[in-house]
Parts: sequence; C-alpha cells; structure tokens
Amino acid sequence: MTLLNATGVNKSFGGLQALLDVNFQVDPGQVHAIIGPNGAGKSTFMNCIIGKLRPDSGQVVFDGQHLLDMQPHTIAQAGISRVFQTPEIFGELTLLENVMIPALSKRDGTFKFNFWNAALGQRDIREKSLAVLEEVGLIDQQESLAANLSRGDKRRLEMAMCLVQDPKLLLLDEPTAGMSRADTNNTIELLQQLSTSRGLTKVIIEHDMHVVFSLAHKVSVLAQGAIIAKGRPEEIKRNPKVQEAYLGGSHTHGDGTENGRASAATKTCAKEPNT
Ligand code: ADP
Ligand code: MG
Repeated sequence: MTLLNATGVNKSFGGLQALLDVNFQVDPGQVHAIIGPNGAGKSTFMNCIIGKLRPDSGQVVFDGQHLLDMQPHTIAQAGISRVFQTPEIFGELTLLENVMIPALSKRDGTFKFNFWNAALGQRDIREKSLAVLEEVGLIDQQESLAANLSRGDKRRLEMAMCLVQDPKLLLLDEPTAGMSRADTNNTIELLQQLSTSRGLTKVIIEHDMHVVFSLAHKVSVLAQGAIIAKGRPEEIKRNPKVQEAYLGGSHTHGDGTENGRASAATKTCAKEPNT
C-alpha cells in the first residue's frame, strides 16, 4: 500500500518549468529522500504536497485523500507534518508550552489563545506533551526557555511539536542545513531513533549525502524539475546519470575523490538504514 502517491505533478513559475511530470510514491514506514542540485524543484514539490503551492496539473493522494482539493491546515489535520529549515519554535516559551500548542491545535482544530491558561491545566494535553519531550530526550529541560537550546536541540523540540500531533507522514526540508557536524549527527540520531520506535514515514529533502545515506531506504533524484533516477541508496550512488547531475563528475579531483561533504559521505557513510 502507498501512503503518498503523487502523479504527473507539473508546476511552472512564469516561463520556468519548476516541476515536470513528477511521479513520487512513499510506502508506509519508509524513509524516502529527495536529492538534487539547488534549484532542482525539491522545495517546490514539498510545497505542492502541503498545499502551500498548487500544481498546474497532476494529483497528490495521501492516505486515500486527494490533497489538491484541501487547505494547508486540513492537510495537516489529515496527518502530514512538516519540519522547516529553520526551526519554528517560540523562543520565549518553555519547551513544554511549545509542545502543548500543536497538541491543542490538533485536538481543537485551530488554536484559540484565550484558552491558553485553561489549557495549561489540561492533564491529557500536558501528559502527552511530556511524553514526546521524553521521547526526543528533552524531558529534563521541560521548564527551560526554547530560545536557550542548541541548534540540534531546537530541532529536537520542533520534532516533538510534530510528533505530538501523531503524524502519519513527516516531511523534512533540509533539516540539517547550516548545522555543525555535531548538531547534524544529533539530528540523524534522532531521526534514526524515530524510524525504529515509531516506524514513522518520512520524506526528507537533503543536500548532505551523509544524512541521506544514513537514513533513506529509497532515494529520488530531482534535476531541473524532473525525476532522473530513483532507487535504493546503493543503486543511486552507482548511477552514472546521478553522478553527472548531482554528485558532480566534473568536480572530480585527480585522486578520484570529489570535493566536499558529498564525497566523504558516499565513501564512508554507506550504512544501511534501520528497517
Ligand atoms: P530546490 O528546493 O531544489 O533548491 P526550489 O523548489 O526552491 O529548488 O526552486 C526550483 C526553481 O523554481 C528555482 O529555479 C526557483 O528559483 C524557482 N522558484 C521557486 N519558488 C518560486 C516562486 N515562488 N516564484 C518563482 N520562482 C520560484
Ligand atoms: Mg529548497
């Protein structure tokens, strides 16, 4: 069974064809990565899934529902959560309060601020929020202000804010962009843990090959708006079309290694993901 099924998705901005007949399927429990050079259309595709952009043509079906007829908040209610490049958290609130907000909005539809004080006393919401803080390893800091967290821990908090809504599908757009290696590894570890503990289905857009090959069961390669290859990480690494379009055949050094994070990752981080 397919959880997310996008077929024939086209999107143009003026004269620019940003997505060209994109077909993309994700099975439950899978981690599916979308890689591709800058400007390939990765974020555009994700925005089409979450209802932020409307494709010119095509279909996106999630869990039996046609998403293109739905508003972004209804899509979120249907079970799709998205993690943004920069964590969207409330710095001046505590970790626990940050998690309670999406917990309430999931339960009540839209969040009503005048119910906030009453909500703080609601045991079920509070307990559920504490449970996800425990799950992401932030329980000891529940009363700390979110602004004081490290970059990696902010990502953990944001993940807790998604998990408290019990998503069926988590979308991540370059979740480690701009992070230090330590924070990146912290985030990989968390995502691996969630794959094991929840079997959470994920679509991850990623530039960092180390992250992709540590996490993904399947990889789709997008170049100039079109999917040029899909397969298991091992197959993708060997695919000459992919090497040319993305891994940068033309940037190969004399010693046969490529420059930058991508090459280190393709050589040393070929670990199979947890299943
Ligand atoms: P990626 O996420 O793979 O780096 P994007 O999806 O952000 O690529 O962009 C794909 C192409 O579409 C780029 O050429 C970008 O400039 C263009 N684009 C993206 N969003 C818009 C927009 N709202 N208006 C016009 N052009 C856009
Ligand atoms: Mg992008």
